[in-house]
Amino acid sequence: MSEVRIRPRQVLVLIIVFLVILMMVHRNGKRTCQGPDYLQTMYAQADTLPTIYAVTPTYTRPAQKAELTRLSHLFMLLPHLHWIIVEDANATSPLVTGLLERAGLEKRSTQLNIKTPPEFKLQGKDPNWIKPRGVEQRNLALTWLRNNVDTDRHSIVFFMDDDNSYSTELFAEMSKIERGRVGVWPVGLVGGLMVERPYLSEDQKQVIGFNAAWRPERPFPIDMAAFAISMDLFIRNPQALFSYEVQRGYQESEILRHLTTREKLQPLANACRDVLVWHTRTEKTKLTAEEALLKQGKRSDGGMEV
Ligand code: UDP
Ligand code: MN
Repeated sequence: MSEVRIRPRQVLVLIIVFLVILMMVHRNGKRTCQGPDYLQTMYAQADTLPTIYAVTPTYTRPAQKAELTRLSHLFMLLPHLHWIIVEDANATSPLVTGLLERAGLEKRSTQLNIKTPPEFKLQGKDPNWIKPRGVEQRNLALTWLRNNVDTDRHSIVFFMDDDNSYSTELFAEMSKIERGRVGVWPVGLVGGLMVERPYLSEDQKQVIGFNAAWRPERPFPIDMAAFAISMDLFIRNPQALFSYEVQRGYQESEILRHLTTREKLQPLANACRDVLVWHTRTEKTKLTAEEALLKQGKRSDGGMEV
């Protein structure tokens, strides 16, 4: 008899446990963030944060999909990023289109293409003038931005090369860039140093110098990954573009000289003490065995996209 009385209670407990599990599953199904505070804050504020337009020039080579896959995961984590991916090619590629689709980024990306004129890829006599990388591609993205971005809303432009390593935290910092300003921060593993960084005034509000060892005389001796720009500056300064007519290492100075001065730079990343981006470079892929296969009319990746 007592067993009969307990059973309904057990059923009730089971139902409650089931409901609790159902609620947990439902909650996890939503886009909630289990990550650190800065990421949770970004999710909570996603609708009010300025859109960050990340401009990535990219070109076909064996490691391209690996590099772009790494980057695509940043976009999957960060809801307020828009990816402008510009292929150095005569047409957009199915590899990039497929990658954007698989990452669910169709609505938060723009796929463009423009080929670097071959004469610029030839090695000139002066080693300082050889092969500017990504110039044509970044300029095309700037044209697209000037024509397509709603400038009533604050937004930010970041030149994001495809082979560097970026922390999600960098994008939280970038979101703090004020209208009309250029944000700056340190970059790891660049210019022959462990870190290239801006020096700040005592109150930590102004950039007063840089520690660059390579060509410190440049107007802005920093890497492309060291700054991001409030979009309204590109509207106010339509002449701001990248150029082939500058020496190696001067692209950053070339674009920034139209947009800002050292004094107006906005220091970020914990008063430029945190390294949140690294100028890593991927080793050239060795394919000696593949080349031997090709000579026999075979290949390891037949029908596969690598
Ligand atoms: N890039 C390009 N075409 C090229 C070489 C490079 O579009 O012929 C892109 C590359 O994918 C990267 C950016 O330009 O996003 C900078 O190139 P790289 O990383 O080789 O330059 P570095 O590391 O020397 O600054
Ligand atoms: Mn690089």
